[in-house]
Amino acid sequence: MQAISVQQPWAFAIARGGKSVSNQGMPTAYRGPLLVHASMRVDLKACDSPLIQAAGWDPRDPLATIGAVIAVADLDHVCSPTDICDCGPWAEPGMHHWHLSEVRALPRPIVALGRPGLWEPKPSLVTAVTTMFTTAALNNAT
Ligand SMILES: [Zn+2]
Repeated sequence: MQAISVQQPWAFAIARGGKSVSNQGMPTAYRGPLLVHASMRVDLKACDSPLIQAAGWDPRDPLATIGAVIAVADLDHVCSPTDICDCGPWAEPGMHHWHLSEVRALPRPIVALGRPGLWEPKPSLVTAVTTMFTTAALNNAT
């Protein structure tokens, strides 16, 4: 399991708004489950962008928080800026497109310190995320 810190409102758009491409300055060879962490910094300009509005941005949503893990996704493909690709409206030219699938929004955010780029979450954080999903599944089953 790895994690990536993303500024709001982009992290929210991944968790709730169907944003399946994360624009990163760096490539990665990692593929697999990825914690989506909302970093402490907010991209204020982006909050008014049509894309973010269309993604249902809601500052009152618990997952609009900062400094917390808010979703888990699978990182299954990364484009390089030199690729000729058609990755849709979320993809920015000149960036590495990290393609995320199977996005699972957390029932509640889990407060955690992030880091720039890809980072390895502490085992306790991974356990907290897994436990929250297990508990939610059990509650839904009853
Ligand atoms: Zn692409």
